[in-house]
Amino acid sequence: MRNKIPCTAQKLSQLHPDMIQSVVGAQVFKLGHEYYTANCVRLVDSDDAEITSEVNGPFGLYEQSIALKGGNLLTKCSCTSTEQPFCRHCVAVLLGYHSPGTARDAVRTQESSVWEESVTPVTPIAPAASSATSLSAKLREITIFLDWLPQAVKCLQLDQDLPEAPPMDAGDVRGFVQSVQRLMTRWRLSEERRIVLEAELSSRDSHLNRLMKQMEDFAQEADQAQAACEGMQLALTNCKGMQSRLSEIGRERERLEDQLKVVMEELIRKGSALNHFASSFKEVSSTFHEVATPSLQNSDTTHSHAV
Ligand SMILES: [Zn+2]
Repeated sequence: MRNKIPCTAQKLSQLHPDMIQSVVGAQVFKLGHEYYTANCVRLVDSDDAEITSEVNGPFGLYEQSIALKGGNLLTKCSCTSTEQPFCRHCVAVLLGYHSPGTARDAVRTQESSVWEESVTPVTPIAPAASSATSLSAKLREITIFLDWLPQAVKCLQLDQDLPEAPPMDAGDVRGFVQSVQRLMTRWRLSEERRIVLEAELSSRDSHLNRLMKQMEDFAQEADQAQAACEGMQLALTNCKGMQSRLSEIGRERERLEDQLKVVMEELIRKGSALNHFASSFKEVSSTFHEVATPSLQNSDTTHSHAV
């Protein structure tokens, strides 16, 4: 909620609690004071011109920025309150900034004159003229509330928006109505959140099912791959056996080659000896032939003479 009201104060420290109460009213001031006394206020950054703060209330954490600028008090709060001219959280922050015992008390001046005429200070609630009048007013408010309550319950049962809050002065009963409205808003938000979470859960469930299916497929593929691996391992073992056999055959071939070399060398050696023998035989034969030829000629002559 953002708001702007004319204000003649020069410094935020001049906004005394009485002045704050005079402009927001007793009920809002009371709630703001409760936040302040419960230590719900945290001043993030503050000086006499501007305050940045946080108020941690029962309905969540709200952020405020409050400033004096151009003769106006500018208030902004992240809450959804319609309290005027500013909400209970801003009241709590101003009270926190104006905490007793600080030097800011010394600058308290012109208490009732900071709000310009366009801002109507809320008249402090005067003591009741009589206890009977007060009781009568409270009974009237309770009656209005009890009239409103069945309609609200019916709307809750039908999941419809709550009926408009009945017109009544700020007080406990109005607080009850606002509490019911806030609870309804929170329930709605919770319900929306629940629906979103359920949708998300369903989506994640589907995703999980898909992942499970993929895992089953992977497991089947892994089984097939393992079977293929085992087949390949068997083939590899066979290959190793064949390789071993080939090695043996290679060694046998080398051995045979060595034997063949030995035989060849022996043959060459015997061939050479045979050649040598043949040439010797040839020489012997030639010699024999030379020796034998004249003898034969002599023999033929002798024989012819004999004839
Ligand atoms: Zn607020």
